Amino acid sequence: MNVAARSAASANADIRIRLGVEPVINLTGTLTTLGGISARPEAIAAAAAILGKGVDIAEFQARASHIIAQATGAEAGFISACSSAGICMAIAGAMTGDRMGDILRLPDTAGMKNEVIIQTGHLVDYGHPIAQDIRLTGARAVVIGSVNSASQAQLAAAISPSTAAALFVVSHHCAPEGQIPFPDFVRVCHERGVPVIVDLAAEYDVTGYLKDGADITIHSAHKFLGGATAGIVAGNKSLVRAAFLQNYGIGRPMKVGKEGIAAAIVALQTFAAEDRAAVREALRRPLLYWKDVIKDIPGVRGDLDPDPTGNPFDRLRITVQPESGFTAADLVHALETGKPSIRVRTHQIEHGSFVMDPRSLGADEQEVVAERLRAAIEDARRTGNDDRRGAAQARKMERANALRAWPDMNAEASS
Ligand SMILES: *Cc1c(COP(=O)(O)O)cnc(C)c1O
Repeated sequence: MNVAARSAASANADIRIRLGVEPVINLTGTLTTLGGISARPEAIAAAAAILGKGVDIAEFQARASHIIAQATGAEAGFISACSSAGICMAIAGAMTGDRMGDILRLPDTAGMKNEVIIQTGHLVDYGHPIAQDIRLTGARAVVIGSVNSASQAQLAAAISPSTAAALFVVSHHCAPEGQIPFPDFVRVCHERGVPVIVDLAAEYDVTGYLKDGADITIHSAHKFLGGATAGIVAGNKSLVRAAFLQNYGIGRPMKVGKEGIAAAIVALQTFAAEDRAAVREALRRPLLYWKDVIKDIPGVRGDLDPDPTGNPFDRLRITVQPESGFTAADLVHALETGKPSIRVRTHQIEHGSFVMDPRSLGADEQEVVAERLRAAIEDARRTGNDDRRGAAQARKMERANALRAWPDMNAEASS
């Protein structure tokens, strides 16, 4: 190959190879530690097209507001850096309103309403504790209820003249039962003039919670929507404006770029026009294929697993029983450490299962995953053990140690 041909070939190579980073197959779906979902082509094109152009960001965000309003039924909206940023900015806005003096003073909240109510069962960790989003703005979290119980009476009693907002979280990470249902939560808050901010980062429902009284909703653009990394903040116009104005205050270190705004609004429009049932059907195909690959392996079972919060898609749950001679954690380890590395969702690994999410699967990856699954089972058979909890804990420690050695992640961690 001559020099020109070689540089053309390398320009066509996988961007990860060109940049010297190991490709991974993302079967977690949308985990942000793997960069979120593989963006849809329309969003990729929009981000690429705007990167070389100038645009007035406030005007662009006003246009985003219009498109978000159309897609969600909200009065207004804007694009944030991510959902976490959107939560911070919404809370900050609830404290400051549109008073620039207060906006520029955060996180000093002296003299402002600065309490945010949240239920114990909603204190999730999605990569960091959500309570830290509250504290970051200068607000104080007022936590009500227990992991398995919270009541309207507790909510009402927690509301005081210092209450700025209440935060409601919808997620499979939330406590599965005993928390206050959304309509009751909204009613108790609204009767006392408290706005309700709803974290719906990974939830497909972009209209229902607003209809049911949410004052602000927050969705991630890089999860189910298929945009670039960003957040979509939608809701009541004066609260959305107050949240948006944080861009000139504590929102500055959470700034979204023009490419994030372009990709998010195009992703939202494309998502809104999509046939959910047809998409669900297409996403089932690789799952059924992999289920078939493992059907005769003793002690290993695959089941279609509908999303636990009712989002319209399925995953494949792989359950590993003792007669296999290895644990689910061993199998996950073999999948992760082989080439290419396959990353799956391991929230329930201590109970002997993990799940494969098809939403970020590349067009040519279905067969690669099938082959790696067969190889990983062989691998786990050779090296595995049958101590379910022990194996899961050991892998968790390994990962934590690797992170603590960053950027020397492949070196042996010493402690
Ligand atoms: C992912 C997630 C977030 C954070 O979303 P980002 O857009 O990545 O900041 C917040 N809350 C919940 C429930 C999530 O699942």
